[in-house]
Amino acid sequence: MHRLALLLVLLLAACATHSMMVVPATQWQPKDPALQEKARVLRQVSRSVGEAAARECRRRLRSANCDFVILVDPSSKAPANAFLTLDEDGRPLIIFTQPMIASAQNAEEMAFVMGHEVAHHILGHIARQAENSRESARIFGELAREQGKDDAGVESAQALGAEVGAQNYTREFELEADRLGTKITHAAGYDPLVGMVFFQRIPDPGDRFLATHPPNAKRVEVVLQTARQLGLR
Ligand SMILES: [Zn+2]
Repeated sequence: MHRLALLLVLLLAACATHSMMVVPATQWQPKDPALQEKARVLRQVSRSVGEAAARECRRRLRSANCDFVILVDPSSKAPANAFLTLDEDGRPLIIFTQPMIASAQNAEEMAFVMGHEVAHHILGHIARQAENSRESARIFGELAREQGKDDAGVESAQALGAEVGAQNYTREFELEADRLGTKITHAAGYDPLVGMVFFQRIPDPGDRFLATHPPNAKRVEVVLQTARQLGLR
């Protein structure tokens, strides 16, 4: 059953001072006519990708929460973004910001982005990233202690370790999510090769240390490889 109220306030753990009003994609009614059409496409995509994702999720993980909820942050001032978070019951929430929806050129792009986000959940990335971050914080802290740092020094080494641990692995997770996301997009009836064109519009993070996303060229390569395995072109 849907326990979400029409509007709910999410306090994001990463940024405690930032609260966000979100609305279920099924109930989002923007005033702008151009956005109304996109809202209609989003509802359709949410249904097909949600079903394909739930099938893949249940097939792989018997005990996980596979009941995906697609939400919209209707603020036009939010950055163009889509991301996964979990509610207090561990239910996966995929949040699309209004500018992200506005920037999608077609249903395939929306499906591709959604497929990528649901894949993060199916692959257990939130828990795995937290684990990597804790482990890296522990190692950095130990090294600082061995070097004779005081408590404050150890603490700041741990904080840096947590950040490095989280970010270092994020790039790997992004490629894993692109791979499974491509399969889910295809299973939902959308062409991932059309959907991935959206990579061309997001800034390329290149190959920097601490870049949270892999370079776009690498992501395109992973999608093409997966599409070949699926027999698409
Ligand atoms: Zn991602």
